[in-house]
Amino acid sequence: MTNKVERREIPSDIVETVECDKCQCKTFKPVIIMHRIPALASPDGESKIVDNQVLACEDCSNINKEILDKISVFINVQKQGGNSE
Ligand SMILES: [Zn+2]
Repeated sequence: MTNKVERREIPSDIVETVECDKCQCKTFKPVIIMHRIPALASPDGESKIVDNQVLACEDCSNINKEILDKISVFINVQKQGGNSE
């Protein structure tokens, strides 16, 4: 049993090209944003900063709200039973 991946073409008339919310530019560049993880949500009880790569407008550097709203933030959790310090 192998997992086959197939490329499926989506009809271009139903595809929308994403534009910048502010200047309607259609091209984007990768940038890094940082999230502060509150101590309450952190595995070791200490506030942390994690970074995330998102796409910002190439012209005005705006990050569309749609992109910001859909960001998932992950944090590495040391599994118990690993090396003890
Ligand atoms: Zn823009």
